[in-house]
Amino acid sequence: MPRPRKIVLDCDPGHDDAIALLVAHGCPEIELLAVTTVAGNQTLPKVTRNALGVARVGGITGVPFAAGCPRPLVRALHVARDIHGESGLDGPVLPEPTLAPDPRHAVDLIVETVLAHQPGEITLVPTGPLTNVAMAARKEPRIVERVAEVVLMGGAYRTGNRTPVVEFNIVVERITALGTAPARFVGELLTFFGGAYRAAQGFLAPPVHDPCPVAFVADPQVLTTRSAPLDVELSGTLTAGMTVADLRAPASPEFRTRLALELHRDRFWDLVVDALARIGDP
Ligand code: CA
Repeated sequence: MPRPRKIVLDCDPGHDDAIALLVAHGCPEIELLAVTTVAGNQTLPKVTRNALGVARVGGITGVPFAAGCPRPLVRALHVARDIHGESGLDGPVLPEPTLAPDPRHAVDLIVETVLAHQPGEITLVPTGPLTNVAMAARKEPRIVERVAEVVLMGGAYRTGNRTPVVEFNIVVERITALGTAPARFVGELLTFFGGAYRAAQGFLAPPVHDPCPVAFVADPQVLTTRSAPLDVELSGTLTAGMTVADLRAPASPEFRTRLALELHRDRFWDLVVDALARIGDP
């Protein structure tokens, strides 16, 4: 097996972030070097506490967890209470964290981690707002050339799934059947998350965004990608923050950005279940 890919997970747990964190921990193809938190799904103190609680559930030790930016750069913070609840991780009972947060600011931890490794060695996986990553690039522009990749789930999401409820239930059953504490925890997360999405947006099954980039780092075959110019709209009144991909031009290796076109669901969920099967005691 090739050497594991070293990642920094920058997250705002968040149900799907929590699953992303556990999957990153359970994937042998990934070495989790640092976890940083950013206000998003809930306030910074809440998402940081959630990340540390999830670390305890998954038995993650020896990894620094650092809190980062408490609000977006240019707008007010709007938390996603309707989807993630008052705690940001409603549903399962979260244990008291045993890890203490790292005293560094997340932005400094990102910069130091990237600079302490060889060029192309670190992959950033942001699963929350990009505030910490933007601040890190602003504070230390050398990291921009030095990271291998930034892999994120942003922009449009199409489920393209004919029977999401059936698939979702089967997935939760597969995960719960593992019988471990982290697997039960993820089952409870998905059950709450599914109910919240149904109530708030009428989805039959919740889009589980954040483990996708983690899975892609572990196994690029879970996504079909193509290179394309990608930009983020900064000034649109209705579209601010929207990712805009230009798919008119033929895919060129000169483009530095790639876009995911399709998620290979069976492969993805197999990877998630396999990762969860590797962590936790029965
Ligand atoms: Ca997230």
